[in-house]
Amino acid sequence: MTLDTYLDSPELQALWQQYVVGAETYLKYLDTETVYLQVITYLKVTPWYNILKDYLLVLFIYKILKSASYNVRAYGIVGYPKHLVKHSSRATMKWLLSSKLMRGTVAKEVSKARATLEKDLILNNDCLLDFPTLPKNGLREDHIIEELDILQDVLPHTDWEEGKVSGAVYHGGEDLIRLQSIAFEKYSVANQLHPDVFPAVRKMEAEVVSMVLNMFNAPIGQGACGTTTSGGTESLLLACLSAKMYGLKHHGITEPEMIVPVTAHAGFNKAAYYFGIKMHHVELDPVTYKVDLKKMERFINGNTVLLVGSVPNFPHGINDDVEGLGKLAQKYNLRLHIDCCLGSFVVAFMEKAGFQNVPIFDFRIPGVSSISCDTHKYGFAPKGSSIIMYRNEDLRMHQYFIEPDWVGGLYGSPTLAGSRPGALVVGCWATMVKFGEDGYIESCRSIIEAARKLRRYIETEIPDLQIIGDPQFSVIAFTSRKIDVYELSDRLSKSGWHLNALQNPPALHLAVTKPSVPAIDSLCELLRKTVKDMTNDPDAKPSADGTSALYGVAGSVATAGVADQLIVAFLDTLYKLTPGSNKE
Ligand SMILES: *Cc1c(COP(=O)(O)O)cnc(C)c1O
Repeated sequence: MTLDTYLDSPELQALWQQYVVGAETYLKYLDTETVYLQVITYLKVTPWYNILKDYLLVLFIYKILKSASYNVRAYGIVGYPKHLVKHSSRATMKWLLSSKLMRGTVAKEVSKARATLEKDLILNNDCLLDFPTLPKNGLREDHIIEELDILQDVLPHTDWEEGKVSGAVYHGGEDLIRLQSIAFEKYSVANQLHPDVFPAVRKMEAEVVSMVLNMFNAPIGQGACGTTTSGGTESLLLACLSAKMYGLKHHGITEPEMIVPVTAHAGFNKAAYYFGIKMHHVELDPVTYKVDLKKMERFINGNTVLLVGSVPNFPHGINDDVEGLGKLAQKYNLRLHIDCCLGSFVVAFMEKAGFQNVPIFDFRIPGVSSISCDTHKYGFAPKGSSIIMYRNEDLRMHQYFIEPDWVGGLYGSPTLAGSRPGALVVGCWATMVKFGEDGYIESCRSIIEAARKLRRYIETEIPDLQIIGDPQFSVIAFTSRKIDVYELSDRLSKSGWHLNALQNPPALHLAVTKPSVPAIDSLCELLRKTVKDMTNDPDAKPSADGTSALYGVAGSVATAGVADQLIVAFLDTLYKLTPGSNKE
């Protein structure tokens, strides 16, 4: 029997007629005569499989219309076509660049950039030992220590000790380094996977989490809790994972979406990529540079599992309106994550350091469900340490991984890693109890004062630079209507200062750290002088392979696909040996 004859078989037809009779009875209750007649005629004369086809078509059109009406609501009547054009032109350019026609040209450009990157990043020196493979015989300890010293000395690098780097080294005091080394020495074999073997590490880890929860006014009596993680990115990943799984369990959401400001950390994009969460980016208020809450509300739908705000955000150092975000989260019964990874121990101690008008951003806002705080930033802990906090244990439980059926035994793990380096938590604990509240209040005060000094100086002495928004914390970002800030960045680099380059709009920022506090005056002076040089010489060409050229590539629709490849080239470079480094 062919499919056709089967579909037309008397049994199926009879079954179908039964449904038609049922529909007829039902439709009689609707008293619009013509609709009734038309529908019944349609049902009677159309084979059932054609009806199925029609139904699928209608469903398809309905889905498209629904998505279009959602997008019109979210982006606006004018904004949606703009959004579509922007995205489709980027996609088209990407496709064109990877087509046979263009592939060769692009590859040539990328390999040129790759060569420059390799020249800048793969540093070596003839006096260094190279180990492309394991040495046949192990080296003596004194020999290794000597090599470590030479390694540090002979390769040219930016001096962080003078504080001329934005947000790379947050403390670096010698006392602290000594204390952290002792912690490492004592606990270098420790692993939190085995609390029975390392009960002291378990105790210290629980205390680190508790101290940070208290700093952020978490309702500990009502179940507020958290875990340590390997860094801010892991904290963000877990917050998003928890929101996704919470949405699945409590609201049956199988196609989760989250709504984040365009200024939120790229770690959220990473979470979307890892966990299959659809991401909506919300624009900023053009004056305050805080996320526009009205626009955010328009993105909310039945699949939304998480809203996000930052205190402050990485690009501009601006804090989103957490009170407003909290209200939005409560109105729609949504999870709300506040990213205080960067704000860290600075935002937590602003009030106690005596600064006025500090907005409330922590668990005192009832809508806030989770907060991330990097102990390895302004907490000055060794790198590889952050805290994710939740309002209650149910939220935390949704980031856990649990496997009761594994052949290797009952398995559970609270965070992304399996085995975890206990020494890091001990280093963090030692750092926190060494500083104490008074130590962090003092560092908060000096860092904020230095940041505000930089801001005031730019506002009063450098009219060609404009501060972005009204930054309250340790990060000061500025743009310019007159000069190319990327070229400014390249020139500052030549004088030893490394600021962060930002895009949309082009801007630079400095995240003030403890080492950079005493260097602020010299930065102010250097900025003024460099900007003056640039405005006096407006025809000077920016360097061809500098920041300016790179961001030119990334920012232009025509070369957006190339930017991806440049980033890949950069990442590849990280794992390359020096050419010809198999010398003995
Ligand atoms: C640094 C930072 C993070 C996390 O970054 P890691 O490098 O993974 O520690 C998250 N959010 C903001 C705003 C940050 O500045």
